[in-house]
Amino acid sequence: MAKQVSRRVRKLRQNELDIAAANSLGDIVWPVLPAGRNLQALALQVPLQQSQYWAPDRLLRHQMAQIQSLLIHAYKHVPFYRERLGPLAERQLPRLTMDIFRELPLLQRTDIQDAGAAMVTRELPEGHGGVFDIRTSGSTGRPLEIKGTSMTALFYRAIGVRAELWHQRDFHSKVVALKNIKPGEEDPRPGPWISGVPTGPGIKLAMAQPVSTLLDQILAEDPDYLQAHASTLRELIRHSVAVGRKPERLLAVKTESEMVEPDLRDFCRREWGVPISDIYSCQEANLLAIECPDNPPHYHIQSEAALVEVLGDDGKPCGPGETGRVVITSLHNYATPLVRYEIGDYAEVGEPCSCGRGLPVLNHIAGRLRNLAVLPSGEKVTPVLNSERVLNDLPIRQFQLIQKSVDEIEARIVVTQPMTGADEATFADYFRRGLGHEFPFRFVYVDDIPRQANGKYEVFRCEVET
Ligand SMILES: [Zn+2]
Repeated sequence: MAKQVSRRVRKLRQNELDIAAANSLGDIVWPVLPAGRNLQALALQVPLQQSQYWAPDRLLRHQMAQIQSLLIHAYKHVPFYRERLGPLAERQLPRLTMDIFRELPLLQRTDIQDAGAAMVTRELPEGHGGVFDIRTSGSTGRPLEIKGTSMTALFYRAIGVRAELWHQRDFHSKVVALKNIKPGEEDPRPGPWISGVPTGPGIKLAMAQPVSTLLDQILAEDPDYLQAHASTLRELIRHSVAVGRKPERLLAVKTESEMVEPDLRDFCRREWGVPISDIYSCQEANLLAIECPDNPPHYHIQSEAALVEVLGDDGKPCGPGETGRVVITSLHNYATPLVRYEIGDYAEVGEPCSCGRGLPVLNHIAGRLRNLAVLPSGEKVTPVLNSERVLNDLPIRQFQLIQKSVDEIEARIVVTQPMTGADEATFADYFRRGLGHEFPFRFVYVDDIPRQANGKYEVFRCEVET
């Protein structure tokens, strides 16, 4: 924090007072006096500040009370749940416990797609509307459509503000966010970078540009914070080191959407002198977990917005150190209730955090099932692919590992000059350690490895049918 304050004193931005004046109420110039929904998102910080320190059983009791309200609504007004909750409805819903809740079947993406309009409420309680569409295409093709409401948006905003507060970010700062938008489609006007709160300028740049162009744009903007996918960040820092220029004002990097390998955190701190903080979110329910500001790099589940279960293959809750399927119940979505929804991600459960927050801990977000390696024993493991060393030591610009079977890894590589047999052996030896098995490697040389349509870059993908 001392570093942040001294930088702030040295480099106060001229537009700070303009921001305050533009967002405040009436003749009050400073401090900013927000109005309307913005006021509610900020007011929610008070109960959120308290509940983050509650013991897990107290959090769970309050979650159950909220889910009970949601389920009673869903049973009455959502045709899909009228049927699904039938056996529970009359007798057990009014005294919902976690044991009763766990009897409910898991909701799959295909259930929502097949149910169509039957998943949507016939009416909303007062204060929850208006309704908006959330459409996710993912990477599997068939899109998923659900509804959000002004109530879900309010909680998304409040949790988003909490993430910034946890990490002590100055709301007057300038943020550059690298987004999955087409070059040329950026909105040139800076907007607020926290939804619902007056902030300094938020600039969106298209991430799908040559890294040299991106770095030039970032240097020109000279932001206090940068928001990027982990894979883009790694390329940016590498290029920045190569050309000997770096963003000088930067205080931290915010990452999202992709797994952050531990060595990327070290790399960013070493070369740019700033930390990375990550969030875990999904399109259907927004922010699910925020990195602990006191004990990174693990994540605290945002229990006030969603109940997050991590379940093993036997359907039982995973304990600390175990990886399982992420199943969410979105607490405030009364338009398309998502109850025990399996979102397709895998995560590792953590021990309670020594920071004092009772919000449950995830050690690691492993990503989708296709991002786990399958050993010949059938066991699934999370690859740990710290890639900086091979990128530095070998003539590699970009790579991707595809597991084709339980006994073959295909290494797709974009080279800067041809690899020798010794280079290939070094590469394979290095990654076998991260994969936990002596997999044979097959090398395929390509000109480029494109991102997926959603902008994510997968370093490892498993194509083994399990
Ligand atoms: Zn913590």
